[in-house]
Amino acid sequence: MLERTIKTVVEHYGTPLYVYVKDVIRYQLAKVKRVFEGVRMLPTFACKANNNPRLIQLFLEEGFGTDIVSLGEYHASELAGVPRERIVWNGNGKTKAEMGFLKDKVGFINVDSVEEAQRWADFQSDANFFIRINPDVDPRTHPHISTGIRETKFGVHIDLIDEALSVLRKQGKKVLGFHIHIGSQITEVEPFLEAISIGVELSKKYGFGCINIGGGWGINYSGKELNLEEYRSKVVPLFSSFELVIIELGRYLIGPAGILVAKVEYVKRTPYKTFVVLDVGMNALVRPAMYGAHHGVHVLEPEEPWEESIVDVVGPLCETGDVIARNRSIPIPKCGSLMIVEDVGAYGFSMASNYNSHPRPAEVLIDLSTNEIRLIRRRESIEDLFRNVE
Ligand SMILES: *Cc1c(COP(=O)(O)O)cnc(C)c1O
Repeated sequence: MLERTIKTVVEHYGTPLYVYVKDVIRYQLAKVKRVFEGVRMLPTFACKANNNPRLIQLFLEEGFGTDIVSLGEYHASELAGVPRERIVWNGNGKTKAEMGFLKDKVGFINVDSVEEAQRWADFQSDANFFIRINPDVDPRTHPHISTGIRETKFGVHIDLIDEALSVLRKQGKKVLGFHIHIGSQITEVEPFLEAISIGVELSKKYGFGCINIGGGWGINYSGKELNLEEYRSKVVPLFSSFELVIIELGRYLIGPAGILVAKVEYVKRTPYKTFVVLDVGMNALVRPAMYGAHHGVHVLEPEEPWEESIVDVVGPLCETGDVIARNRSIPIPKCGSLMIVEDVGAYGFSMASNYNSHPRPAEVLIDLSTNEIRLIRRRESIEDLFRNVE
């Protein structure tokens, strides 16, 4: 079913192509809603995982707002029609220009430092302010996506909370609570429990009835994912006395819903190794090169009888790190075969670049229950790459 649809979509839109499956998005949403059943909350989608306004719209229809970290992501939310009161603004480097523009266009602002709190003195805002705390908890994930230990640049150290709070209050800002986000692709409940418990204790101490618990839920790239039943039984009871809990989930909502479809250009055999060379690489999907991330790879409908072998799946870029998957046992594809890279809905397209002057792929949204196929972003053209040259 999915394989046939993918072939049809590729006939229309070519490769490389990002394809998102609505049915999977619905499934992920349902799981998240079940976890928080009974909690008074504002769920948001972290746009940095995927900024396509058509996808953001799907989350909006399900009652989600957005978590934004830039003017660009504000614009994505605006294109999707997200109302002000459902937009949360995060970031450790908010510029004066951004503050002046967004101060009355978002519902919630998470302040990252005492220095930022001081800078807010120049701006009137009736938004709801939260103070992002650094709980100094190790999320046991990749160091590049670990954000809540004291060595990282994020959040207000616990010893500086009073100062941040009094700076904001002197300005007449409405401070509603604390924000905690300790990292991404976290597959154990324990770090969440530890960090959120700290946030909950502090909220009680300061008399706050609202809390923002960030995102970071890990998905199953290669065998391990966050256990939601355990999360519901251990973490959710902490929220019983809160009147508002905000979450900011990115990867969990959209990661498993996206695949990257690529065409095999070469099967290159050397005395040491076999390389499957795709028509796309780290330009469209940087996670393997950047984090050593694992993504499942499949040959679409391999021709029988196939020979299975261990290969490196690589891209066409002039860079040794341009790898999509290393040492995988797959049926050896033919030149022209299609390959699928799994779980790329989050931090896939949104981290894509034009390195080696490759245009970025198109994006398509499919609904397997209705057979609806919709192009949601055109393929970039060569002209697009040089649009701003003077
Ligand atoms: C990146 C980020 C998120 C989303 O993280 P996921 O791992 O994609 O769920 C949420 N909140 C903040 C502050 C972030 O920086």
